[in-house]
Amino acid sequence: MKNRRVLVLPGDNIGPEIIAEAVKVLDRVNDNFELNIDLEYGDLGGAAIDATGEPCPEATVIKAKAADAILLGAVGGPKWDGIERHLRPEKGLLNIRSALDLFGNLRPAIMYPQLAHASSLKAEFVSGLDILIVRELVGGIYFGEPRGIRTLNNGEREGFNTYKYAESEIRRIARMAFEAAMVRDKRLCSVDKSNVLEATILWREIVEQISLEYPEVELSHMYVDNAAMQLVKEPKQFDVIVTGNMFGDILSDTAAMLTGSIGMLPSASLDKNGVGMYEPCHGSAPDIAGEGVANPLATILSVAMMLRYSLNAPSAADAIESAVSSVLDDGLRTGDIFTEGMTKVGTVDMGNAVVRAL
Ligand code: NAD
Repeated sequence: MKNRRVLVLPGDNIGPEIIAEAVKVLDRVNDNFELNIDLEYGDLGGAAIDATGEPCPEATVIKAKAADAILLGAVGGPKWDGIERHLRPEKGLLNIRSALDLFGNLRPAIMYPQLAHASSLKAEFVSGLDILIVRELVGGIYFGEPRGIRTLNNGEREGFNTYKYAESEIRRIARMAFEAAMVRDKRLCSVDKSNVLEATILWREIVEQISLEYPEVELSHMYVDNAAMQLVKEPKQFDVIVTGNMFGDILSDTAAMLTGSIGMLPSASLDKNGVGMYEPCHGSAPDIAGEGVANPLATILSVAMMLRYSLNAPSAADAIESAVSSVLDDGLRTGDIFTEGMTKVGTVDMGNAVVRAL
């Protein structure tokens, strides 16, 4: 089998701690499943600013473009908060996403039954929850031009943004969502606001067109306000949700909180060829950095997504997800998911336990 290249970007604060555990897990499945994965390392965010003065150095972009997948820890922290906006660590993240045209953001919200108590909803509503939100990541109102704050003739200031999507942008994210639905429960809900916004009337029309290519997938549509309500009322009704950048931003955070802990949630950002960047949904947690207590499971589960979506190794992905589940069955918990009666462990012990379970 051809060698596959993975670029590892540990990032800042807890980033290197959680990445070390994820790499141990990746090394183990690399051996167990003979995947021929070669790892390379690079700098992004604060680490890159310290090393080169820029949050997303050209060298990192070159390595990223040559890789089959990228594994990222998290970037940012108070150390770099004082510097100019365009040189901040978070800008590095935006730059690499747009340099690689990572237009499709996949955010699963999976509730491990062992952690059902951690949700703000009653266990019966969330136990067994398994939703995938597919969010368009490089278009819509967050990027639309014209935008700005202008002064009107009467002297009053007005803020304005532009919500637009071209057919080709809708087509590619819709296809990604249908493909994702095909390997799940084959149900896709497209979320829009087509009762008010013309841009989403077109969105709905194009999604309908693409659905003809996927007759096995049951397509439904929902207005975003209702989708927000349904997510907290009856979240298990959903399989895959596809939506634009802004609605996806909000709905994916809502879905994430249904599962209780941000330390458990992986994510993927993909380009049109399935090359992707994989990272936990949480940030760099400067408040606990260096203490060895961060939960590495979101990053380890991001490795599973990487194997499934970019490296064509679904069995290895399944093995990691089962290993995580069995470690939870054994009662091991980092502080963020700890409850009485469980065994509290640190970052390294949690990583080692997953490796052992593999
Ligand atoms: P955060 O997600 O880093 O932390 C929020 C809370 O969750 C903190 O109490 C933290 O200790 C806890 N937490 C987060 N991850 C955890 C884990 N794996 N295990 C245990 N607890 C965990 O969010 P924040 O505090 O708003 O941001 C901190 C920094 O991270 C900022 O500089 C922010 O810009 C950056 N950030 C980066 C990304 C990214 O790299 N993708 C995403 C969000 C925030």
